[in-house]
Amino acid sequence: MKIKVLLLCFFLGLVFSIHAQDEISSRALKGATIFDGNGNKIENGIILIQNNKIVRVGDTEMHIPENAQIINVSGKYIMPGLIDAHIHFFQTAFFDSRPDAADLRDSITLENVVNYQKNHPERYYQAYLRSGITAVYDVGDYMWTLKFQKENDKNPLAPHTASAGPLITPAPEQLINIFEVNGENTFAFLGSEEEGRNAVIKNSEAGATGIKIWGFKPKDAEFEKKIMAVADEIKNQNNKMIAHATNLTEAKMAMKLGAKLLVHSVSDTLIDAEFLELMKQNNTIYNPTIIVGKGYYNTYNALFGEGFQLNDPNRVVDSKTRNILENASDFKKFLNAGRTENIKNRLDDMLKNLETEKEIMLQNLKNVYDEGGTIVVGTDAGNPGTVHGISYYDEIEAMQEAGIPAKDLIIMATKNGAMAMERLEDFGTLEAGKLADLIVLEKDPSEDISNLRSISHVMRNGVLRNVKDARDFKQPE
Ligand SMILES: [Zn+2]
Repeated sequence: MKIKVLLLCFFLGLVFSIHAQDEISSRALKGATIFDGNGNKIENGIILIQNNKIVRVGDTEMHIPENAQIINVSGKYIMPGLIDAHIHFFQTAFFDSRPDAADLRDSITLENVVNYQKNHPERYYQAYLRSGITAVYDVGDYMWTLKFQKENDKNPLAPHTASAGPLITPAPEQLINIFEVNGENTFAFLGSEEEGRNAVIKNSEAGATGIKIWGFKPKDAEFEKKIMAVADEIKNQNNKMIAHATNLTEAKMAMKLGAKLLVHSVSDTLIDAEFLELMKQNNTIYNPTIIVGKGYYNTYNALFGEGFQLNDPNRVVDSKTRNILENASDFKKFLNAGRTENIKNRLDDMLKNLETEKEIMLQNLKNVYDEGGTIVVGTDAGNPGTVHGISYYDEIEAMQEAGIPAKDLIIMATKNGAMAMERLEDFGTLEAGKLADLIVLEKDPSEDISNLRSISHVMRNGVLRNVKDARDFKQPE
């Protein structure tokens, strides 16, 4: 059996390397219904691919070169690879990377966790690709995530990555200090105008795609001076502002300062005409992150012994993540007694608040949609309970609950995500000249966005892989 597997791997490897080297070799995916990411649907379509790029997309009339290998995908559905426009590579989907939410550092130090994250991102790469996600946007993280941008473009076994690096924040220094590891931090403290400008320059020079501001303080004159300096420096550096602003006044303040991407819903109240006007004027992109709060709730419950339900039929989640979530209650003893009771007693209230918040988020999302705002799909993966890769389906299903038609969710999941990452020239739609990053589904995603779960294959950089087969996604030894 083992020999067979090895031979198969060798054979597949050979086929792939021939494709990679042979300039003439081209492949045609023939017969599927294609959603191109621009809103077009082609029945009985053909996608011609040469090496790692799309050469042409058309219907049955399209000419297929004689030497092309034809892959029959009749009856299936093809769309661009999915894009998760909001993730964090330093976070594990458990509290070990979020001691501010539940402090388990008597069990494992944040230093150990972050060092592991830094050196083993490949477990998430596999989870992303096998979930159909071919690009991710890390919108706030340690500086070391910036190197993933170039690295992952060249790695066909990783999703394309954009990263914003450390977040600039007015949050109290005692919170920021928790995240200090090996002299690095996910946060840069906005102590003065100069500190703000320096953080923008440092991140920009290191190649950050966007500068994330975590927390806004409307009506605070001191803060205003500092954040205006930051906004000014972002312009100087030809970068763009990303904003974590979850209430209406903060979100408006962010857009007045030029924020181009709101990475969360407004969840305190319904948005108003001024908000929508600012979005339009500014071309601000809206990322609702509806499910991340519930993820915290589920993980607290797992910690107190309720267990954690992973909906992962293809087993794309790595064993380390699976183990820690499924055995979450083993960590309960590391929480100190007072704090444990505190969290436990708050869980019912937390659930009620989450339900109220979700109603507001869904209404706001529908409102942004109805007004023609640009919306992306982003999970906030890595936060407790929001597992890298598979959480995407829950998030986009929640967006569908808001009343957005599945055909438009397809655009948000692909083209708009690439736009947020500033990579639309390279991927996000199925068009001539773009990278061959796409997914193959058994069921029609425009009928019901849950059909994304029927994924059978993912193509990244022109190589088609079966998502059910983990061996296809391992780096060659
Ligand atoms: Zn986030």
